[in-house]
Amino acid sequence: ALNNSTLKAELGRSTWKLLHTITARFPEKPTENEKDALRNYVYLFSRLYPCGECATEFQKILEKYPPQVSSREAASQWMCAIHNIVNKRLKKEQFDCAQIADKYKCGCDDDETNTTT
Ligand code: FAD
Repeated sequence: ALNNSTLKAELGRSTWKLLHTITARFPEKPTENEKDALRNYVYLFSRLYPCGECATEFQKILEKYPPQVSSREAASQWMCAIHNIVNKRLKKEQFDCAQIADKYKCGCDDDETNTTT
């Protein structure tokens, strides 16, 4: 059976994938409404994330590094940076945020390269 730390890690991987994919698809020139949506999503997420300890620590990170919502690039780099802060706290490797643009694809748009078709 899966133990608690395995389950917590699995939830974390799925969650980071969704968060990075959302910022990778965020508009390059967001409207005020779209900026509000991303900001609100991040703060509501930080209250609802089911790992309580993770959520509490994440809220502290957000106080210091509020969501950057001015553009796709700003949002993606911000998400990468805060993931790296969590990585550091958990003594994991730092990810090179210069590589982020190509990493998170959703398969939801024609302009995405799809190597399987
Ligand atoms: P993950 O950190 O889950 O990353 C998955 C993949 O994303 C990596 O394999 C890599 O390919 C890529 N990646 C790594 N770093 C970056 C980056 N900076 N930017 C973009 N892509 C990257 N676990 C705890 O035990 N305690 C906590 O307090 C805790 N807090 C968390 C808070 C949040 C908001 C989230 C979403 C998760 C949290 N977790 C916490 C889970 C933890 O961050 C990991 O998801 C989990 O430990 C699994 O780690 P992993 O090594 O598989 O890689």
